[in-house]
Amino acid sequence: MAVALPVLTPLAPLTTLRLGGPARRLVEADSAEAVVAAIRDADAGGEPLLLIGGGSNVVIADDGWPGTAVLVTSAGRELERRPDGTVLLTVEAGEDWDGVVAASVAAGFGGLECLSGIPGRTGATPVQNVGAYGVEIADLLVDVDLYDRTADRVRAHVPAAELGLGYRTSMLKGRTDAVVLRVRFALPGGGDSAPIRYPELARVLGVEVGARLPAQRVRAAVLGLRRGKGMVLDADDHDTWSAGSFFTNPVLPEREAPPGAPRWPAGAGLVKIPAAWLIEQAGFGRGHQGPGGRVALSRKHVLALTNRGPGSTADLIGLAREVRDGVRKQCGVVLQPEPVLVRCRL
Ligand SMILES: Cc1cc2nc3c(=O)[nH]c(=O)nc-3n(C[C@H](O)[C@H](O)[C@H](O)COP(=O)(O)OP(=O)(O)OC[C@H]3O[C@@H](n4cnc5c(N)ncnc54)[C@H](O)[C@@H]3O)c2cc1C
Repeated sequence: MAVALPVLTPLAPLTTLRLGGPARRLVEADSAEAVVAAIRDADAGGEPLLLIGGGSNVVIADDGWPGTAVLVTSAGRELERRPDGTVLLTVEAGEDWDGVVAASVAAGFGGLECLSGIPGRTGATPVQNVGAYGVEIADLLVDVDLYDRTADRVRAHVPAAELGLGYRTSMLKGRTDAVVLRVRFALPGGGDSAPIRYPELARVLGVEVGARLPAQRVRAAVLGLRRGKGMVLDADDHDTWSAGSFFTNPVLPEREAPPGAPRWPAGAGLVKIPAAWLIEQAGFGRGHQGPGGRVALSRKHVLALTNRGPGSTADLIGLAREVRDGVRKQCGVVLQPEPVLVRCRL
């Protein structure tokens, strides 16, 4: 009698960290309908479900995933000019995010340029309300189409306001009961960028904060800044074998901010402190190595934890704990991880 043996599929190559054990089953879903069908199939078989887009914001345990991993690769974009001069951009969840930004800027529409060079797929952008250089998805997101797993139905046009978008978070983060199938953005009609809010970017562009410039020029500057920090993927550069920033910038009551810490107002007596500054204060410099040198802080930016190959998730978590504990001891602040931890924890 022939016995079907479960085929274990490695997940590490699907992540930017190149870490994590195998899934019991991997299904690639190349349309919204295929995503829903794959999830229904997994649910019918009582299989635990893991969704993967570009794998750039996940840390997967070394023993992998004991169920079905669905890789979302649905493609398609639509532009609709609206009577008020703005443009409605509709994008399928599996579209490469930077491809969407590049195409919208090249087509003469500003708004997304500060989010250039962020890895991953479009469906994940609302999940942690992706942001960079003073712009976040919440600024442009109109609504999403979701598959509601509990009710087993597709909910079209769920407004952005219902997603609980906050600093690097939303109600979708760390959950698999609501799956993003499609995302809609409202972009200003002209080719100018959003006002430049980030002083470092304004400096590089030679303008004052608040200025607008051709979106294409801002995209080029953002990509340049990101490359310098190892924040644009490059297979040959281990400094980019990361999940981006590993810790969020802590938001604290101003009186609890460590003396001398740089800070930005974060509303209602709160301030946001750069996690990178705290890490450096605690004595961790760029390139600081974890066990056996297999993982290390990026040589370009202390906030990225990187796999120098052949590291393991256990190595990475060990390094993350060392940094978190060092910062807590030195600065009294507990750093929180930004990526989604899959079957592992700090
Ligand atoms: C070099 C580098 C630089 C980065 N820079 C930034 C940055 O500047 N700003 C920033 O905000 N982030 C940054 N990130 C983090 C990451 O790129 C973003 O969070 C990105 O949106 C993740 O997309 P992904 O498709 O890779 O998601 P994945 O890593 O595949 O998934 C992340 C989470 O979302 C879930 N998910 C994936 N697809 C869906 C879906 N369709 N519906 C519901 N849930 C889903 C997954 O299950 C998982 O929990 C960076 C990462 C790297 C590696």
